[in-house]
Amino acid sequence: MIAVPLMDLRLQHSTLQPELGRAVGEVIDSAGFILGPQVGSIEREVSSLLGVRHGIGVASGTDALVLALRALGIGSGDEVIVPAFTFFATASAVMLVGASPILVDVTPDTYCIDVEQVAARMTERTRAVIPVHLFGHPADMDPLMEVTASRRVAIIEDNAQAIGAEYRGRATGGIGDVGCLSFYPTKNLGAGGDAGMVLTNDAEIASMVQMLRTHGWKEKYFPELLGQNSRLDALQAAILRVKLPHLRDWNERRRDLANRYQTGLRDLPLKMQSERPDVRSVYHLFVVQVSERERLAAALAAEGVETAIYYPFALHEVPAWPRGIHSDLPVAEQLARECLAIPLYPEMTNEQQDYVIDVIRRVLH
Ligand SMILES: *Cc1c(COP(=O)(O)O)cnc(C)c1O
Repeated sequence: MIAVPLMDLRLQHSTLQPELGRAVGEVIDSAGFILGPQVGSIEREVSSLLGVRHGIGVASGTDALVLALRALGIGSGDEVIVPAFTFFATASAVMLVGASPILVDVTPDTYCIDVEQVAARMTERTRAVIPVHLFGHPADMDPLMEVTASRRVAIIEDNAQAIGAEYRGRATGGIGDVGCLSFYPTKNLGAGGDAGMVLTNDAEIASMVQMLRTHGWKEKYFPELLGQNSRLDALQAAILRVKLPHLRDWNERRRDLANRYQTGLRDLPLKMQSERPDVRSVYHLFVVQVSERERLAAALAAEGVETAIYYPFALHEVPAWPRGIHSDLPVAEQLARECLAIPLYPEMTNEQQDYVIDVIRRVLH
């Protein structure tokens, strides 16, 4: 038996330990913990890597979505279209600013937002759409932008799972009006705690987010609007700066591993998220779709292979969802019943992966 965890951050950190220790030590020595030069540097490094003019470091990916919505002036009475199969924060951000999330289904091949349904669900009150680049796979941005362009509907990309992904040669997160990143520790680029970033090419939106993350002021103690406290801190920025130079290689390795899974599992009775030819997914997670999910998960666990369900519920199936507001969402519901994430992380060895493939083949054949 070979033990294979779903992911293993400790392996990643063990090789970076001396650098991480030094970076954290320097912040402590400087005694400057909130914003400051480390935050300015990571904002410039991430935004330039993704080809976006402005990056504003914030406290989490969820706050990045909230601040993006607030900067666009979206609130009570407004509607925002979101996919029904995603992490709950995509929609809770909409509700937190007082707007109504309108769910549309995802496509059965990419698990990303179904653009035709977006067009069908747009109303006079629609102010924005939040496509999610789910599991690292880019949503279909060009048709989405065509649908929204004539109606002054903004696009906020939820890029929490897809830093480094590309859609038709463009980095995700920099294609719509605003992009939101999460640096939650297990994301492809993870901090040592909660952290996030708002990306935009629009100077006005950038300046609004900058004010909103610090009490609504530009000038200290002189709030010009109702802001909040949602800043990226220097320790997180310092940790991210140690990791950022490795992101490209890590994503490349994720793609290699995904490719090996796609080949190794090809002829089995399961489905996989299929990568479109015009995108470059960064495989935040490798998710398979099986009708006998519980049996497969149990068999893998018995052989030492860890799995997890992302996500066990579609958005409208949880208690926090407002009663009554959704239409038919069959693909999202089926994914919630059948999805299973199997181990994939850059430090995973080919030997571990071959073992996982072998166990799955034995169970499903
Ligand atoms: C992680 C995640 C978020 C929220 O990010 P946090 O940093 O955990 O607040 C939002 N959307 C998606 C799709 C995510 O995966």
